[in-house]
Amino acid sequence: MSSAGSWRSIPKIDVHAHIVLHQRDDTDLVLHEPKAQLRLMEKHNVRCACILPINYPEYFPLRPERALDWLRANNEIQADIMRTAPERLLAFADCRIDGAYALRERVHSELRRAIEELGLRGLKIHPSNLKTPADDGRLRQWLDAVDAQRVPVVFHSNPSGSDPQFDESAPRTIYRAIYGRSTVFTVAHMGGAAFLETLGGDGYVGTSYGLLLIADLHGVDFCERLLRRIGIDRVLFGTDVPIFSYEDYERVFDAMGLTREEMEKIAYRNAERMLAGRPPLDS
Ligand SMILES: [Zn+2]
Repeated sequence: MSSAGSWRSIPKIDVHAHIVLHQRDDTDLVLHEPKAQLRLMEKHNVRCACILPINYPEYFPLRPERALDWLRANNEIQADIMRTAPERLLAFADCRIDGAYALRERVHSELRRAIEELGLRGLKIHPSNLKTPADDGRLRQWLDAVDAQRVPVVFHSNPSGSDPQFDESAPRTIYRAIYGRSTVFTVAHMGGAAFLETLGGDGYVGTSYGLLLIADLHGVDFCERLLRRIGIDRVLFGTDVPIFSYEDYERVFDAMGLTREEMEKIAYRNAERMLAGRPPLDS
């Protein structure tokens, strides 16, 4: 541990966590209810956590009557989760682009409902699950809606073999989607396999999964240099709990030589800006 103090001792905002109310055998998600998440947050000094939707259309087994519009159902479930601990669990809305959601008016009215009525704090876009590139024109309407509501958006970003072009969720595709816009956005997972592309971009970069991958492949010294190259003001602490654990990140952050100020920015100061709908400092 560095003289800057342990990662656990710093109060944190986790910008990327999931609540799993119903376990499904065909995913890597295990049951993880709000009270389990709150216990972990207590133990690891995490002040609040952004709860991102899971983006599985069938994810509402207890409410089959809502199957007609899984997006509305998912957003309501997100609001229910947030009500269990309003200041600590900050839920984001989900999005879809098929059916009526190809229509601009429907997109705007559902996001307005999610933010203004349900109190959700931003939007999650998962290009791979939507099976479309991040710069798809149908997603532009969602970005317009996000800007109108002045809330942040987070993009899943980890190109993989399930995406034949290997670029649906690559950072370069997200940067292309955002180019010329004032949208406040986060590239999650540090871009995964395409993490070097975050060096050329702007906006926020979330550490969920990506930091663990890069630490494993290249070591913590590389991680430290990479975070500084990306720009400490752009980096947000995200975990993908419960898929990964808070301990996984403590090991990496404690082994890096970041200063106390750099750690505090990554731990919570940058996240406060993001949640307030403001771009990274100096951008
Ligand atoms: Zn995730």
